[in-house]
Amino acid sequence: MDFKDKKVLVVGLGASGKESAAFLLERAARVSISETSALKDIPADKLAWIEENRIPLEAGGHNMKTFLAAGLIVVSPGVPLEIEPLQAARRAGIPVIGEIELAARFIDTPVIAVTGTNGKSTTTELIGHILAHTGKKIFVGGNIGRPLIGYAGQKQDRDFVVAEISSFQLDTTKFFRPWLGLLLNITEDHLDRYPSFNAYALSKFRIFANQTAGDFAVINGDDPVVTQYVSKIPSRILTFSHKPHGEGAYPEGNRLLCRLDQETGETYSLEKVKLTGAHNLENIMAAVLAARMCGCTPSAIQEALETFEGLRHRTEFVCEIGGVSFYDDSKGTNVGSVVKSLAGFDRPVILIAGGRDKGGSYAALEGMVRNKVKALILIGEAGEKIRRALGHLTRTMEAGTLPEAVRLAYAESAPGDVVLLSPACASFDMFRSYAERGDIFQEAARSLLKKQAVAI
Ligand code: ADP
Repeated sequence: MDFKDKKVLVVGLGASGKESAAFLLERAARVSISETSALKDIPADKLAWIEENRIPLEAGGHNMKTFLAAGLIVVSPGVPLEIEPLQAARRAGIPVIGEIELAARFIDTPVIAVTGTNGKSTTTELIGHILAHTGKKIFVGGNIGRPLIGYAGQKQDRDFVVAEISSFQLDTTKFFRPWLGLLLNITEDHLDRYPSFNAYALSKFRIFANQTAGDFAVINGDDPVVTQYVSKIPSRILTFSHKPHGEGAYPEGNRLLCRLDQETGETYSLEKVKLTGAHNLENIMAAVLAARMCGCTPSAIQEALETFEGLRHRTEFVCEIGGVSFYDDSKGTNVGSVVKSLAGFDRPVILIAGGRDKGGSYAALEGMVRNKVKALILIGEAGEKIRRALGHLTRTMEAGTLPEAVRLAYAESAPGDVVLLSPACASFDMFRSYAERGDIFQEAARSLLKKQAVAI
């Protein structure tokens, strides 16, 4: 693909937008950038970089003319495809692609792509950890860490690229064809961006769209939505499931059986594995299947599973105060992940939830809330909607701030209980990110711990 003197508009100045612009500049494209944030809200280092490279920048909104003047538009995943300037550009025949598509056209290394509603980051990092442990040279990135375009622009000297891919990123792919695609699960999320659940589900299946019979698909055999569309997968399918089946992975007591081809398969001990919960078992099964396809040996995989620490803000243990355990699951930003997080506890839970609503329903939480949640503390914009959906099932109250919610939760608890932050919502109404929300929760819990220590 030749970019020399081609007019390329990059829409959105996040990490992937900036790296895409840098990649295109190096190939002598005439790059400009359009960003909805006002100039004053763009970080100074980014502005300095733009000035240094003399990139025309349109900030504080999108101008139709800018879009229609482009020969190619590279759009960031945060930008809805329905906005009028993008629609108009498409109608005018201007190609609109995402950073993943741009990168994929330049990457020769086999790509392992992980998608699903939940578990993407954990599984991507786990695959990366196993491959690195077994001596493979890898690049890990995509929706986490470094954008894929960063690898496309560097010396491609790795054995594998391991990429987390969101549905927004899949929406702007065309020829993207991972050598191995993983689809972990599909439950309700992002219904504020998709016209229907079906549209969201189908966007996930785009991961397999360009695969052929020589490629691989690792899928969740227990997920009704994933299995409903299985005929859309043109590559060789390996399934993970909690139930025994033919080719793939499933648990056998406290071990994991992995069977490829007609072989009898090998088993892995889960005894010393630090990732816990049924959902993480799914992530482990998916990662083991991927690692086996990459040629990793079972003994090396076993070692790697035991040294993986898990990621922050995913049902992360924070501290214990007077027999009450505090867990930070700030990354639980949709109902499906909160169900899984609650399912991992066999003790009463005081649940802190709420934030920015994403347009779905909270009904899938009813059973868990009825059976496990001793008290529900609500924060943020979605508080009222959640109260209406679940408030009749347990003792429910609202808090103005997260530290106040932590104090309330502790007051509601008894020794042996769990206080869990698992919001089922995005964080942006009160925080910059889920990570900031998690850090504030952890700080609030630790400051309670300090006060307790002083009181004693
Ligand atoms: P993603 O990158 O897809 O958001 P993460 O690994 O960051 O996934 O985990 C996000 C949330 O989902 C966390 O709350 C975590 O506990 C939960 N989770 C992780 N893996 C799974 C899974 N396989 N199924 C359901 N929930 C999961």
